Amino acid sequence: MQIPMVDLRIQYQQLKTEIDQALAAVLDSTQFILGSEVTAFEQEIAMFLGVRHAVGVASGTDALHLALLAAGVGPGDEVITSPFTFIATAEAIAYVGATPVFVDIDPQTFNIDPVKIAQAITSRTKVVLPVHLFGQPADLLPLQELCKKNGLLLVEDCAQSCGADYAGTMTGAWGDLGCFSFFPSKNLGCFGDGGLVTTNDDKLAEQLRVLRNHGSRERYHHAIIGVNSRLDSLQAAVLRVKLKQLERFNRQRRTNAHRYSQQLAALGIITPFEDGKGTHVYHQYTILVEDRELLQQALTAAGVSSAIYYPIPLHRQEVFADACAGLSLPVTEDVACRCLSLPIYPELNEEQIERVVEVIRKAANGQR
Ligand SMILES: *Cc1c(COP(=O)(O)O)cnc(C)c1O
Repeated sequence: MQIPMVDLRIQYQQLKTEIDQALAAVLDSTQFILGSEVTAFEQEIAMFLGVRHAVGVASGTDALHLALLAAGVGPGDEVITSPFTFIATAEAIAYVGATPVFVDIDPQTFNIDPVKIAQAITSRTKVVLPVHLFGQPADLLPLQELCKKNGLLLVEDCAQSCGADYAGTMTGAWGDLGCFSFFPSKNLGCFGDGGLVTTNDDKLAEQLRVLRNHGSRERYHHAIIGVNSRLDSLQAAVLRVKLKQLERFNRQRRTNAHRYSQQLAALGIITPFEDGKGTHVYHQYTILVEDRELLQQALTAAGVSSAIYYPIPLHRQEVFADACAGLSLPVTEDVACRCLSLPIYPELNEEQIERVVEVIRKAANGQR
């Protein structure tokens, strides 16, 4: 039995009739960029997330980039973020000419530690950019208070947390801006690249709509330099079908995660911690182990995929190494050495979970 990290085929097969019809309708319409399908999706997801505005863009990376541009972040500004995330989070900060300032994470949730942020704030700090890592919301209440107190903007990286709530309010509805990715393997994934920026601020929404479309409010009139980053209609059509299933998908991810945790905890493995402040939607199921290499070898030999998210923290990446020389973030560095993500997706079945656990149990006992 081969068990992959994700299986996108099962989900497509389940929804094939509806998705194919939606795609065919777009092809017939020949409206491919933005258009009514994108507008409908923006309205539906804004309603789902409980935000005033949702602006479709070309990727999650672009969502972060455009959010920072709309917020007026630029050279000389500092943006406080997590070092334990995908490169795109910090890349977007660098794109606008600002400086990422990395603050250590909480050892249990792996999310940025609000207590440690206070010491990192300077007169140049403009934004706090938490990542809701692996699908668990960062500690948004203290983050929001901290931002208010210090006059900072809160921009959420929700690429891994679509449909997760914190204290009953969705991620993406807490900050001044929320940034989502619809990369195929994300909790809400399209059939290519796609992204979204959310906001409750009418002015920021208007600015985002102009920025994503060459800085143009009216065709061939350009008041500012923007970018070409629009969601296309085919992706929006897929997303409209899948959005209706997202709550079910996320429930299934949670059920699967809890099945893993029950069995793995009995083996003495450190399983994902749920802080109980919101809903963890398990974009990844990530454990901490001492002999990661051995375990990964055993899993691979048994046909079970696994992955390391993330092996090198951002402050240790070549591109930021000089700027971060001397910066020590011990929790992140420790977690990066011990974390291992196991297969998790809504359609993963009980038998597959048993199989993964069995391989881990044998590896833990030094057997094959
Ligand atoms: C996937 C991801 C992104 C980037 O999204 P793309 O759509 O691939 O550009 C940004 N941040 C995090 C935390 C992600 O996981």
